[in-house]
Amino acid sequence: MAAAGKAAAFHLPPLPTVGEIIKLFRLRAQKELSQNFLLDLRLTDKIVRQAGKLKNAYVCEVGPGPGGITRSILNAGVQQLLLVEKDTRFIPGLQMLSEAAPGKVRIVHGDILTYKMEKAFPNHLKKSWEDEPPNIHIIGNLPFSVSTPLIIKWLENVSKRDGPFTYGRTQMTLTFQKEVAERLTANTGGKQRSRLSIMSQHLCTVESCFVIPGQAFVPKPDVDVAVVHFTPLVQPKIQQPFELVEKVVQSVFQFRRKYCCRGVEILFPERERLKKTEQLMMAADVDPTLRPVQLTMSHFRNLCNTYRKMCDEDPNLFAYNYREELRQKKRKRSPESTDRLEETV
Ligand code: SAM
Repeated sequence: MAAAGKAAAFHLPPLPTVGEIIKLFRLRAQKELSQNFLLDLRLTDKIVRQAGKLKNAYVCEVGPGPGGITRSILNAGVQQLLLVEKDTRFIPGLQMLSEAAPGKVRIVHGDILTYKMEKAFPNHLKKSWEDEPPNIHIIGNLPFSVSTPLIIKWLENVSKRDGPFTYGRTQMTLTFQKEVAERLTANTGGKQRSRLSIMSQHLCTVESCFVIPGQAFVPKPDVDVAVVHFTPLVQPKIQQPFELVEKVVQSVFQFRRKYCCRGVEILFPERERLKKTEQLMMAADVDPTLRPVQLTMSHFRNLCNTYRKMCDEDPNLFAYNYREELRQKKRKRSPESTDRLEETV
């Protein structure tokens, strides 16, 4: 019997195994949707443990599929579990899990890229940004083709404090192709240092938890997978709008093997490029001969802050688009070929 005043720990009743569910509902993984399943519940438990204590937590699992991670989340004693799954074939198996955990599971058949998370949880869970993170967690093992655009969208949501971050500093535990995880967590000077490193680390504490070898999945993908945990920072390291930081960071990494000033140049129209680049590098106190991977977070902060000042002084600057200028130059040089291009478009 449970001790007085203490709720008994929740455990799912005996159920068919995940493998049996896959057979029962004929859930063959679709290669074109990059579906790779985890059937080993010790591994799914290990992923779920990375999210921290989930007792009485509200969790959103993205892409539950046949439900391996789902079982581990339910066994962690959550209060409520929201499942967002795009592929209808998985819904009956998930309903079976929902019946085994009465009142705990909500199933949404939908696309996580468009699902409106800002209304997904009760309002009373909201915490102020400066407070501890709310008792809300996002957990998921998504296809690689979805996890990268999704983390960029969620980082933008962190910066604007909307979407899942309407509730405060909601934590996320997600899987990525190992190389993408390395980019997300790369330090200054690291081989994988990239746009993703700066965009994620200026907004979140990003921790690489562990690597799952490809052979742990069914079917086996060609790559290894890593679990990454994100906690939004109270104070972003660069306090500028997401779009501005993204533009500066993207430009710098455009020429990752060249001096960093080569990327910075493309922030400015050709006619004033050299002068403005020099001005920006000087005011930001960044050595123009450093390579993009050698720049620290404070270098990026200085570059963004100085670029912001320059944009405030010249209201047309932020809208300037290097690629568009290149396209127009090409069009002027060979109008015929551009006409043909426009016809095909
Ligand atoms: N979580 C399961 C596991 O670990 O065994 C399945 C993982 S499988 C790599 C990815 C799952 O995400 C599939 O069930 C797939 O249908 C689902 N999925 C793919 N794209 C999605 C999207 N845009 N929104 C929601 N679910 C998606």
